[in-house]
Amino acid sequence: MANITINNIKVEVPEGTTILNAAKKIGIKIPTLCYLENVQEPGSCRMCVVEVEGARTLQPSCVTQVSEGMKIHTNTKKIRDARKIILELLLSDHPWECNTCDRNQECELQKLADEYGIKEVRFQSVKERLPLDESTPGIVRDPNKCILCRRCVTVCQEVQGVGTLAPRARGFDTIIAPGQGDLLNDAICVQCGQCAAVCPVGAISEKDDIDKVWEAIDDPNKYVVVQTAPAIRAALGECFGLEPGTLVKGRMTTALRMLGFDGVFDTNFGADLTILEEGTELLTRLKKALVDKDKNVALPIYGIFLS
Ligand code: SF4
Ligand code: SF4
Repeated sequence: MANITINNIKVEVPEGTTILNAAKKIGIKIPTLCYLENVQEPGSCRMCVVEVEGARTLQPSCVTQVSEGMKIHTNTKKIRDARKIILELLLSDHPWECNTCDRNQECELQKLADEYGIKEVRFQSVKERLPLDESTPGIVRDPNKCILCRRCVTVCQEVQGVGTLAPRARGFDTIIAPGQGDLLNDAICVQCGQCAAVCPVGAISEKDDIDKVWEAIDDPNKYVVVQTAPAIRAALGECFGLEPGTLVKGRMTTALRMLGFDGVFDTNFGADLTILEEGTELLTRLKKALVDKDKNVALPIYGIFLS
């Protein structure tokens, strides 16, 4: 165990604990951007820097381990000034389109800029605007909003085991892009959306087809059906203040019908049809196998040989 102090509060933590986790243990929040708990701790964005007495420079708390007697400060003027400069540098390359961004109010960069009182940015961007990647059915990539935290790269590689995204070029020209081409649709991407879920800004987001849906609903010549995922009936209620796990299947169906959908289907319905089809196919094969058995013909059925 190591005995340390953080902001003059004594704390004992196991050797090897990072400063970030030691601070968390006593309720001290240190801001992070590239860090993603249990997934990546690259220490690259430097938002989590802290002062360690005796150290020459500020230390990234997500990768610096505590040692016996360490005295740490997490909120001095020097630290706040460093974090402000990091935020200004990130914002200097970031489009100021918060009002129209998919991640507005949920953007980690926006929240930190607000928390640190960034009103203006002293640096000017020299980057050229890059085109959006809207090539896939479910994901939109906006490389202009990317802050190069690499959370998406790690989650795609380490968690999903796909490895679609990778850093390309070097230094100031670095971008995060599909490794196998310019467009996500040309790459091996399973459209799981995990990259969008961890992106701290609006650089990867789900494609929004709401306007197309309204257009279809408003078309009197179209019969519009909606198919809900099975988990939604247990998850949706929470968004409306109900107890987590409350089943809202009936209320959800009513709401969807009131919105104008002509039919509401549960994905289970598709599974039921598949079972019916596969059951029929199995019966047909079994019947054929029994006929062939009478004729003494050996036939494989799902890996089983009848003879
Ligand atoms: S959607 Fe999934 S597979 Fe595709 S890039 Fe993102 S994390 Fe990787
Ligand atoms: S796309 Fe998002 S998650 Fe990926 S590196 Fe850029 S900012 Fe980070």
